[in-house]
Amino acid sequence: MTTPQTRTGIVWEYAPAPESSAHVRLRGSYGLFIGGEFRDPLDGTRVATVNPATEEPIAEVAFAGPADLRAAVEAARAAQPGWAGLPALDRGKYLFRIARLIQERARELAVVESMDGGKPVRESRDVDIPLAAAHFFHYAGWADKLSYGVGGREVAPLGVAAQIVPWNFPLLMAAWKLAPALACGNTAVLKPAETTPLTALLLAEICQEAELPEGVMAIVPGDGRTGAALVREPGIDKVAFTGSTAVGKDIQAALAGRAVPLTLELGGKSANVVFEDAALDQAVEGIVNGIFFNQGHVCCAGSRLLIQESVAEQVIAKLWARMGRLRVGDPLDKNTDVGAINSREQLERIEELVSAGEGEGAVRRSVACELPERGYWFAPTLFTEVAPAHRIAVEEIFGPVVSVLTFRTQAEAIQKANASPYGLAAGVWTDKGAKAFEVASALQAGVVWQNTYNRFDPSAAFGGYKESGFGREGGPAGLRPYLRVS
Ligand code: NDP
Repeated sequence: MTTPQTRTGIVWEYAPAPESSAHVRLRGSYGLFIGGEFRDPLDGTRVATVNPATEEPIAEVAFAGPADLRAAVEAARAAQPGWAGLPALDRGKYLFRIARLIQERARELAVVESMDGGKPVRESRDVDIPLAAAHFFHYAGWADKLSYGVGGREVAPLGVAAQIVPWNFPLLMAAWKLAPALACGNTAVLKPAETTPLTALLLAEICQEAELPEGVMAIVPGDGRTGAALVREPGIDKVAFTGSTAVGKDIQAALAGRAVPLTLELGGKSANVVFEDAALDQAVEGIVNGIFFNQGHVCCAGSRLLIQESVAEQVIAKLWARMGRLRVGDPLDKNTDVGAINSREQLERIEELVSAGEGEGAVRRSVACELPERGYWFAPTLFTEVAPAHRIAVEEIFGPVVSVLTFRTQAEAIQKANASPYGLAAGVWTDKGAKAFEVASALQAGVVWQNTYNRFDPSAAFGGYKESGFGREGGPAGLRPYLRVS
């Protein structure tokens, strides 16, 4: 970490501000949540989930095998007619109850999310958990208004939804998937990611406390094989997946020829475009939030920074100075800006792509900071002299690494921003409203932020173009993938 300097020469260091984990009520071992209860696996295994900041095991978690998945899907099938047959207002009440209980256990959920996934507790406390509750509140409100959400047409639930979520926003992604599915009268079987199953299991406890009818929601932790088996289960009526484009393609192939609707929210290489007339200091804050939020483990991260040539040097200087003030380290310290990389595998993937960037001739600058001895860490990194064909300008790094490209004209900015197989999100920084709208309309991205970045709201639709997937989550658009509309 660079030493903070002041005009007076007095150095003010931050005092440690650790969030306590003493209030966390984790069990030593978790079963699979099927039919409203935690069960031992029939043919699965048990695996320890590890804290990526310390490499210490936190708890043991059951991984589902094929017979477990069958049991989960059967329980969800059996529960579905009763759940769909409830008065819609009552389904909404259950979702409200779940939202309230998430709020009541917010502090504990935030700490567990940071322990299991490595993200700074400031983010899990202020973003992940409040937004997870907000999604349940939002869709609780829609439960008795479904037809209004689809233009007044007749609606019916699809049946059993198989849902697979990644490790970057474990509880939030679970909420994005479960809340609309349940509001629409479906039941759901959710597979959390291998490295971050804990908050989904705490959500299962919350569902028990909310007295959600048995079988309406199942949580079946496991690895990629569990996910692959779940989407191939004959008893499912819908698949919703968030994760890598490669796995998304595999799922699409697995469902070919079956009448099972699919929603895919996949990777991205989102362009964050800074014009010369932008408020540059504000833009630098947005760039930092765009790429270093959650260590860059964000599908819509602003990982391709496009700066107008006339201000490139100035913006890069400001950005580099700001990066030097990022605090990297203990995710449970409330001062931490950049926490641990989620897993050893992900760290290796980041290192491999960063070496490729250096090998291809881009100029690398990484913040000189003291990294803890144990755990998985990567210093915030900036690449300049990047060519559009470099791997670091094309591939999703999914880490705290930003690649800078420049442009001269608005047309060139649009052309470069769209020169990607992905199309998930983008940012536009300019003082001119008309220019912002013109550029936003020309960008092939599901979400375009104007003079801000990484803002999420349950009422706003989110989803991709091209290889970033299809289908929308959030808002009334997020109801559609879970309904049969006639
Ligand atoms: P994956 O796409 O492999 O993981 C996402 C989820 O799918 C996890 O629950 C995973 O289980 C599961 N899964 C894995 N293989 C299959 C399969 N064949 N069929 C069904 N489900 C499966 O992402 P990774 O964790 O491997 O990350 C790889 C890269 O993907 C990252 O470096 C990043 O670039 C990108 N990524 C993008 C995300 C996004 O939101 N767009 C989120 C996560 C990753 P398990 O946890 O066991 O792997």
